[in-house]
Amino acid sequence: MSTILPEGTRGPDPPRTASRLAAVQLHVVDHPLVAHKLTMLRDATTSSPVFRQLTDELVTLLAYEATRSVRVSSKTVRTPIGPAEGVHMAQPRPLVVPILRAGLGMLEGMTRLVPNAEVGFLGLVRDEQTLHATTYAERLPDDLSGRQCYVLDPMLATGGTLSSAIHYLAERNAADVIAICLLVAPEGLDLLERETTAIGVPLTVVTASVDEKLNDVGYIVPGLGDAGDRLYGSAGS
Ligand code: URA
Repeated sequence: MSTILPEGTRGPDPPRTASRLAAVQLHVVDHPLVAHKLTMLRDATTSSPVFRQLTDELVTLLAYEATRSVRVSSKTVRTPIGPAEGVHMAQPRPLVVPILRAGLGMLEGMTRLVPNAEVGFLGLVRDEQTLHATTYAERLPDDLSGRQCYVLDPMLATGGTLSSAIHYLAERNAADVIAICLLVAPEGLDLLERETTAIGVPLTVVTASVDEKLNDVGYIVPGLGDAGDRLYGSAGS
């Protein structure tokens, strides 16, 4: 997947024109450890502390795949024996954006793998009646030119929250957006395809599973229930 360029950075640097169509690239990580951890997460008898630990581990595995195209620059180091050609992460650093609240449970697992990433925050809440997402908090750099943005949102359900987040990042000129989701629903992928194709920012979704469908209250089936509640309990709801 990664292409080595002779000098400077490698990885995708797509042309940015408003009319460019950007189909959603979907990557379902097929690995027995991912499947094992996901099965435990789905289990309704899994306690909150274990759920948090499993989320953390699963995100690191998903992040390993999600960062396949992270930009790196050539770098030469000197080993005790002699010079060695290598790479280091390119500037500007990637931006990691957990969607509050449930995305916070994914942050450790991501930054463990990419410790020098910058972290921005987006607080989006979906109205359980209309299923529309509204923003209640935002802490992002104003200019994301040339930056790869990794959005952390455990459940891609209706797609409204992720679509709003991607629009936020696109307005700030993000180079590309990689969403890491534990689970996705086909309906959410369809909405992303419809609502983000025209904005001209390449979008990749990396997940452990595409589940069957949404139920009539917008939960993923079979899913794992309310990810925020399972991580943190139901305080405030
Ligand atoms: N949000 C969740 O936490 N779970 C779902 O199934 C859908 C949205």
